[in-house]
Amino acid sequence: MDTPADTKSRSHRTPSPGMRLTCPTCGNDRDFVEVADGVILTTHYVQNEDSSFSQDGDESQILGEIRFFCGECNADLTRFHQRFVEMLF
Ligand SMILES: [Zn+2]
Repeated sequence: MDTPADTKSRSHRTPSPGMRLTCPTCGNDRDFVEVADGVILTTHYVQNEDSSFSQDGDESQILGEIRFFCGECNADLTRFHQRFVEMLF
């Protein structure tokens, strides 16, 4: 999932070694799932001369909670979400 509106909080940083996120329950360090509640998706369109529409950017707003899970065993890893966001490029 790549939501453009979310890039504000995800500034680019240099990854520091030893910060690899690993699920404490099953040891998975590859697959993770982010779940956002109450998301409003807003998409802008422009109507062309021939009456067709072109997408002109979109923005999304997350109103609810963001939760973070292990993609293997579904353990709740929300406490690691902040670190996940910092390492998201
Ligand atoms: Zn796991």
